[in-house]
Amino acid sequence: MKKLLRILAAALAPLFLLNGCQAVASDTSTLQSRKAVSSPAVSQSSSLQTATADKQNASVWFFDVGQGDSELVRLPDGKNVLIDAGTAESGSHLVKLLKGMNISKLDIVIATHPHADHIGGMQKVIQNFKIGSYYMPRIANKDVPTSHLYTSLLKTIQKKKVSVSEAKAGITILKGSGEQIQLMAPLPVAHEGLNNYSAVAMVTIGQKKFLFTGDAEKESENDMLKSKADLHADVLKCGHHGSKTSTTTAFLKAVSPSAAIISCGRGNDYGFPAMQTLSHLKNDNVKIYRTDEQKTICAHTDGKTITFETGLTSATAS
Ligand SMILES: [Zn+2]
Repeated sequence: MKKLLRILAAALAPLFLLNGCQAVASDTSTLQSRKAVSSPAVSQSSSLQTATADKQNASVWFFDVGQGDSELVRLPDGKNVLIDAGTAESGSHLVKLLKGMNISKLDIVIATHPHADHIGGMQKVIQNFKIGSYYMPRIANKDVPTSHLYTSLLKTIQKKKVSVSEAKAGITILKGSGEQIQLMAPLPVAHEGLNNYSAVAMVTIGQKKFLFTGDAEKESENDMLKSKADLHADVLKCGHHGSKTSTTTAFLKAVSPSAAIISCGRGNDYGFPAMQTLSHLKNDNVKIYRTDEQKTICAHTDGKTITFETGLTSATAS
């Protein structure tokens, strides 16, 4: 039980990162409207066509949660995978969005690392949905955050008897016919700070791959490169909100994406995304999507092509 508590502790950080966004748009119907934008890798289609096609296809959502991260993968078989839950301020709105998508169960939840901009909304998510499996990295004792908020979230996880597993490189957490989710990080290497504990997930849908890096920084990126794992992905969710501490040229070369997503808040205090990161992406002709400029972004895929849709309902209303 002590071991479990230590693992649980990792996901339940104090909520010290705030964003300037408050309430949320209540109309979730716009989730299936707005303009469709084609990526360089794929063909263009109308939002109506893609919404219909998603009954058989997969969709990958990059929610605008202000200065934070939250992504949802909807698989063709109906399974839903949530990666991070944004900030405390966006938690209720994220729940509304998910319910508006007729989701009642999250088959897999990955809490990449215990920073408030990733797990701030997690307690509300756990309270409102059935949770299949919950993955989080094991954090060294000295780094395990403690706070009242941590305690209350821990109690919620225990009360709901959520199945908790350790997120670590090399494990496969989902394997279906044509779909797979593997973790590429964290590797068992010690680094300073919680960001480099981030669980990094490679989601494969048919021939297409999406790499979700949490807040992994260059140290973790180097670990992944050294591991010799195949890091290629068609879509990269850039590490640490596009900070210059992540998305090194070597890592970008290994991933070699056609499109990159940067999840950050409008006018955030950190200056995310960094010009350096944007330059790296532009130099490699990677199409850039940003939640601070394009709100919630959805990538629709049939496993052969990917079509992006932008300007969807945010989990904030700034
Ligand atoms: Zn973050």
